Amino acid sequence: MIIVAVINQKGGVGKTTTCTNLGACLARRGLRTLLVDLDPQANMTLGVRGEGVEVPYGLSDVLRDPIGKPLAGIVRRIGEDPLFLAPGHMDMARCEAALVRSEHAEYRLRQALRHYGRQHPTDWVLLDCPPSLGILTQNAIVASNYLLVPTEAKFYSFAGMATLNKMILNLTREFDFDGELLGVLLTLYDARPRVHQTIANEIRERFGDLVFETVIHRNVRLSEAEIEGVPIITFDSKSRGAQNYDSLAVEVLKRTQK
Ligand code: ADP
Ligand code: MG
Repeated sequence: MIIVAVINQKGGVGKTTTCTNLGACLARRGLRTLLVDLDPQANMTLGVRGEGVEVPYGLSDVLRDPIGKPLAGIVRRIGEDPLFLAPGHMDMARCEAALVRSEHAEYRLRQALRHYGRQHPTDWVLLDCPPSLGILTQNAIVASNYLLVPTEAKFYSFAGMATLNKMILNLTREFDFDGELLGVLLTLYDARPRVHQTIANEIRERFGDLVFETVIHRNVRLSEAEIEGVPIITFDSKSRGAQNYDSLAVEVLKRTQK
């Protein structure tokens, strides 16, 4: 089971879009994929019409008691492909506050996923994180084997990556995180403003091969698909957004086959 935390402490950089659509592309290839919505804003859940599904308890209960309230109880299949969702909810915000005060709070998701994986063999797990470096994001990092960092090609987002790097380093030391950076993904890309190209080049210089060759271009079909409540490959498989995310899936598969 390959677990990828999609992280960046900035909002609006394409984390949720990447989780949903990379996940859908992997599932379309027959790989059993689980999406976990850790963001209290629950954008991913809303973006795949996951808020309507009946669940006996919430993800916040799972994190409070991963064995008594197993993750499997809230996981639901979405669509025709082997794509599954552990829906998020606004009360994740309260959960975050409660977790901060409890012991071993960083390990809850790891425990929940190990438990889940034993009974429900899964190929991929994608964790959609909130735009912060709080305890929910820490749970995601500790639970994962890989980190995927989407970023816009803008100067301030580039500066934010230094903070992110530092945090990853600290967590690696503090917890037994032995994962690696799967890649930095350039998102919301416009080829026209020169500054995007310049900053994209700088990011490539700094991170080298860690930057995915695939670039996610700005494509309005991606936000239309989100509003429609379906992944882009279902909404418009010929769109540039669908092509970009499918090529990301191919690259991700290549990078993890060692
Ligand atoms: P985050 O999860 O990092 O906050 P989102 O994935 O929610 O970011 O993206 C923010 C907004 O931008 C959403 O409305 C989404 O539909 C839109 N968006 C994301 N990626 C693209 C893209 N490549 N092209 C056009 N719109 C996009
Ligand atoms: Mg998001």
